[in-house]
Amino acid sequence: MKFGMHLTFSIGPQRAKELGCQALQIFCGNPRGWQKNPLDPEFVKKFRDDMLANGVGPLAVHATYLINLAARDDRLFKLSCDSFVMEVARAAQLGAQFYVVHIGNHMGAGADAGRKRVAHCIREAVKHSPNGPEILVENTAGGGTSLGTTFEEVAATIEEAACDRMGLCLDTCHALAAGYDFRTPDGAKKMLDTIDATIGLKRLRCLHLNDSKGELGSHLDRHEHIGKGQIGAAGFRALFSDKRVWDLPAILETPREADNDELDDLWTAINLAVESGAASADILKNKPRTAPPGAIRQKRAPKPKALEKKAAKAKIASTTKTKAQSKAKKEKSKK
Ligand SMILES: [Zn+2]
Repeated sequence: MKFGMHLTFSIGPQRAKELGCQALQIFCGNPRGWQKNPLDPEFVKKFRDDMLANGVGPLAVHATYLINLAARDDRLFKLSCDSFVMEVARAAQLGAQFYVVHIGNHMGAGADAGRKRVAHCIREAVKHSPNGPEILVENTAGGGTSLGTTFEEVAATIEEAACDRMGLCLDTCHALAAGYDFRTPDGAKKMLDTIDATIGLKRLRCLHLNDSKGELGSHLDRHEHIGKGQIGAAGFRALFSDKRVWDLPAILETPREADNDELDDLWTAINLAVESGAASADILKNKPRTAPPGAIRQKRAPKPKALEKKAAKAKIASTTKTKAQSKAKKEKSKK
């Protein structure tokens, strides 16, 4: 197994190397915005050189949060589709092997209609980036009108798109929240058998290693530090004990609240893999002796505007509460 993390675009390869990881995942621009300036060719060259020089790869690009390829609303669908096609092209420019995207939410239009829209976008992206990355669909925690909670659903989407360049990125947090209990060797075997019977194991191309705050089947998409959530160390050991995941890159998307979080999570996962035989003990030589300074994506101080909004929201909440309380009091006194 090759281990990596989701890191900030511009300093990703260098930071990955400092932490001792091999694989890398990035957003190819602002994950909360539609607009992206064209990539500067010099930046692209430097990024690709940094990847090579630091021995980092494979590279995965994760889709922007706003993209909903199954959107029912025509305007949102067009924005999503155009943005997706552009991002897949950017991923190709950066030399990414994988582009990871959630299938999306059909917003009440139904799974069939949603899948047709997704398939259209995938065909468009492949047409525009003929040599581009493999498009990996990520399984989701479920809930609402979200598609891709079950492996059958992912398989149906791949079938609808009829695209050879598609695969699965298996997110451990989402799988547990969706109800797949892989926390014992037998459970892990069952889950991988299901993937094989539906999507086909050759299409399982990448793992997202995240522990889960939500319980089994909770449909809660809340990532937790490795070993500290509902999957736990034993759960990851069980998954790693199945040889069918041994050749996969594993990328962490765990929360980063403190300076050492990224290093701790990464090396907890690597140690569990080494103990289970999923990774060679040689990998332990890459561990930095001390935590490299400059943890990124730390919690930033909220902007004044955001604070104002928060305060206004709190005010509304408290007035509604008081109103409701006084209403209840009145009702009581009437009696
Ligand atoms: Zn994920």
